Amino acid sequence: MSALSLAAAVAIAFPSANQRLPFVERAYMIGSVPRGTASVVVQGREVEVYRTGAWATLVDVAEGTNTIMVAAGDFSTNHVFVVGARPKPRPPSAAPAPEKKWEKLEYCGDVPKPHPSGKTPQEIAVVIDPGHGGGDTGAVSPHGLFEKNANLLQAEALRAELAARGYRVLMTREDDVALVLGERPRLAHAENADAFISIHHNAPAANGDAAKARWNAVYSWNPLGERLAAAIAGRLSDAFAGEMPSKGSLHANFAVTRNPEIPSCLVEVDFITSPAGEEAIFNHAHRLEAAIAIADGFEDWLRSGRGPLP
Ligand SMILES: [Zn+2]
Repeated sequence: MSALSLAAAVAIAFPSANQRLPFVERAYMIGSVPRGTASVVVQGREVEVYRTGAWATLVDVAEGTNTIMVAAGDFSTNHVFVVGARPKPRPPSAAPAPEKKWEKLEYCGDVPKPHPSGKTPQEIAVVIDPGHGGGDTGAVSPHGLFEKNANLLQAEALRAELAARGYRVLMTREDDVALVLGERPRLAHAENADAFISIHHNAPAANGDAAKARWNAVYSWNPLGERLAAAIAGRLSDAFAGEMPSKGSLHANFAVTRNPEIPSCLVEVDFITSPAGEEAIFNHAHRLEAAIAIADGFEDWLRSGRGPLP
């Protein structure tokens, strides 16, 4: 085999070649080999290969340039990336870091929109926001597939499911385009939408364990969004109980969750960095299952009215 075809035998998706990571002592590595390859050897240790050819492991790293040897069969490659310097300890006398002030959504008022209970589906508008897009790829899967594309595929499945149930559905993007984060909720405001659902797929921190990290969660920031998040989280938890744990409904002050007018939440459907998660996310039937769970949760929220969920 030529060097070129051998080079294709092991692909490393994260960290990418020469990528600069923050300071960590261990970093996750994910990549792929042809299906049927039994194992890869990373930093001298054998790593199991998932049935799709994906693999994930943790490696010990040091500040500066790291060269990690990755081998499969007769082939080996030296993968180079950079780990940033260890942060200097803060002197004890230093003032605490100022509290982070989040940008305000200038175009939004402060009055929560009335709950749409009593409206027909045709009168109810839902904005779906596929996270990332364009140059902002989001996280990457072991086979090098981007979160931005997974989010769009899942959003399209959810749009079809909600439209089939009669709701008016709007999307913040329908193509691979970049959107300014703070502009995403603007569509919900402009369309006087009843709910806003942002779709994402998760990744661990650089020192997280990509082989094991896999769960779903729904984020909201205010009580308006919290009930919607809890309803969707409950259905996701039930739908995928045999496959991954659920962290339920969590709080996060994201640009797409802090809308004071319109119930807003962000769904982390799965982990794109996990070999099993990647296989699920890029499976049409699995996306349909997730779309049904999210739509069921949305309808639970509709039925719950303004009060807390039962
Ligand atoms: Zn994301």
